Amino acid sequence: MGKCNHLILHCMDYRLQDTIEEWIKKKGLNGKIDRISIGGPCKDIEFAMKYIKTCIEKHGVKNVYLTQHEDCAGYGGHDAFSSLDSERENLTDDMMDLKANVKLLYPDVEVHTILMQEDDEGWDMVDLGKD
Ligand SMILES: [Zn+2]
Repeated sequence: MGKCNHLILHCMDYRLQDTIEEWIKKKGLNGKIDRISIGGPCKDIEFAMKYIKTCIEKHGVKNVYLTQHEDCAGYGGHDAFSSLDSERENLTDDMMDLKANVKLLYPDVEVHTILMQEDDEGWDMVDLGKD
């Protein structure tokens, strides 16, 4: 089945794909990274965990990059929140919950969290850290 050290979980949203592709290339991970594409990627923990487990157990993934993005249809977009701050907080909370789930089962796997934020220039992948 081969070996793959990296995994990125991202939203299926078409607007993000170019930015994610660039990020993967910049990190030199082109063709060396598992990709899970789900709407509202960190919202349904059980669903996401099912695929994350496969990547870790079958492919030997050691570095997991969890991502969320602003204006996600999986969350009802910007309109579902009273402010951008509350939206970011909500998206980050779900991402941290998912991270905690991964770390509980796989303490040796490094889990990075990235919040994708949109400005006039396009999308930024804002790294919130790892452990
Ligand atoms: Zn989305």
